[in-house]
Amino acid sequence: MANEEKEKSLNFIEEIVENDLSSGKHKSILTRFPPEPNGYLHIGHAKSICLNFGLAESYGGKTNLRFDDTNPVTEDTEYVDSIKEDVKWLGFDWASEHYASDYFDTLYEYAEKLINLGLAYVDDSNSEELAAQKGTPTTPGTNSPFRDRSIEENLTLFREMREGKHEEGSKALRAKIDMASTNMLMRDPIIYRIKFAKHHRTGDKWCIYPMYDLAHGQSDSIEEITHSVCTLEFVAHRELYDWFIAKLEIFPSKQYEFARLNLGYTLMSKRKLRLLVEENHVNGWDDPRMPTISGLRRRGYTPKSIRDFCDRIGIAKRDNMIDASLLEFFIKDHLNKISSRVMAVTDPLKVTITNFPEGQTEDCEIDNNPEDENSGSRMVPFDREIFIEKSDFLEEAPKKYFRLKPGGVVRLKGAYIIQCDDIVKDENGEVIELKCSFIENSKSGQDTSGVKCKGVIHWVSQKNNVPLELRVYDRLFKEEDVAGYDGDFRDILNENSLEVLKAYGEPSLKDAKLDDKFQFIRKGYYVLDKDSTENQIIFNQTVGMRDSWKKN
Ligand code: ATP
Ligand code: MG
Repeated sequence: MANEEKEKSLNFIEEIVENDLSSGKHKSILTRFPPEPNGYLHIGHAKSICLNFGLAESYGGKTNLRFDDTNPVTEDTEYVDSIKEDVKWLGFDWASEHYASDYFDTLYEYAEKLINLGLAYVDDSNSEELAAQKGTPTTPGTNSPFRDRSIEENLTLFREMREGKHEEGSKALRAKIDMASTNMLMRDPIIYRIKFAKHHRTGDKWCIYPMYDLAHGQSDSIEEITHSVCTLEFVAHRELYDWFIAKLEIFPSKQYEFARLNLGYTLMSKRKLRLLVEENHVNGWDDPRMPTISGLRRRGYTPKSIRDFCDRIGIAKRDNMIDASLLEFFIKDHLNKISSRVMAVTDPLKVTITNFPEGQTEDCEIDNNPEDENSGSRMVPFDREIFIEKSDFLEEAPKKYFRLKPGGVVRLKGAYIIQCDDIVKDENGEVIELKCSFIENSKSGQDTSGVKCKGVIHWVSQKNNVPLELRVYDRLFKEEDVAGYDGDFRDILNENSLEVLKAYGEPSLKDAKLDDKFQFIRKGYYVLDKDSTENQIIFNQTVGMRDSWKKN
């Protein structure tokens, strides 16, 4: 790539990395992806994963996976396992796997070190008193009456906290910084609190736990992370991040912030997604309507489509809302290249081909994927009685209607041109069957009939098909800006986000496997669902053929 071109495409974090490498500040880079294991990963995390692992890939560095598990109350090993699965599925490999909880001993030592430096103290203030001392963004805070405890007293009390001698909320360890700082986070932040809770890894070993700022930044330093990339809400934390590192004189990791991904009509918060799961608004974390990686996977999204999407949206310094149709664009683009074209009919109208011999079946060869010459073809059985979509027939059709109409012709995909000779109606006047004839020598690929025919429709044999259940999904929420909605986000759930349809599929679909990708011709892209059984084949619609996000 020409130098100039390369520079233009660099995002601001890549620029920083290039500078740090060329100036010799770092010989190589080490990034990390630091999820809190309190839920399943969502597409917002995918952006962070692609950024952190992508940086390391581009610059020959490495990325750690670190579970930020310092809050014993909300964390679970189920989430740890799902996070690992999702990162792997996206196609990334971490250099090593860490847990912030593995650093509890070191973090404790750091806390004692701060006490010994006269930079931390044990405070007995209760939560109201602490809040009152904080001040406001425009007025300075006030010093706690416990701020000037001696180093010895602080050490004794902190050790007692660790030994479980004090009740939850009765004491906390605070950094001694500046109660008048314009940055509220620098006003003597709490760095350790008492919590009598079982931790998913350390069990009952600890009854004091480090707060985010101490735990996160120092974990970075312990691992010698060079570039610690996080989202914009941590901008104000950077000063504190640097303060701890400077005072403790440990590895100088640096924090950089980028805008989090917000996607329309859905949510990017594990906590809120968890409520949807717990309150059964959806069927689990991997419900195909969920913006979770596992939900997208079950819906039929490919790792490539998600990575391409993350690449395209790039790295911004300001929060913005990404149109959900952009994600759809990337999955359609990929599925168009890799999916097998198959036929399924959802709203069947019986068609009898009156000049086709009864009891006879003829194989029709259909290309699996015209976009991929190596994808081969398969045989679909054609016979005298077939189903077409009701909507592919119109009794009173306009001139330019190229599907089936009385006296008109249409091509059956991969099979013959048929002509509509007669209509059968029920007592209510509804069309229940078409009597058609096929045109001799008009078979696809060997058509010498000379009959002009503009329309092609899909079909299945009435006798030779597999019944299917199709699950078709719509947006999960009715409002685009769910996070910005000022009522309860559950009030704007789209109650019509799941539609279940019956369908008849061509017989080859019996052999579909979980990961196979299909285009149901003229309907959309579909993937087998894990709920399928021997007797009930279930497909999820990944995405329809048309843009489903256009505003009406
Ligand atoms: P959540 O509210 O969903 O729990 P979080 O930011 O608390 O989000 P973490 O598990 O702490 O989630 O996140 C791990 C990493 O993923 C962090 O570096 C975080 O900044 C990043 N991340 C989380 N959500 C997004 C998002 N919507 N866009 C980009 N990055 C994100
Ligand atoms: Mg969180």
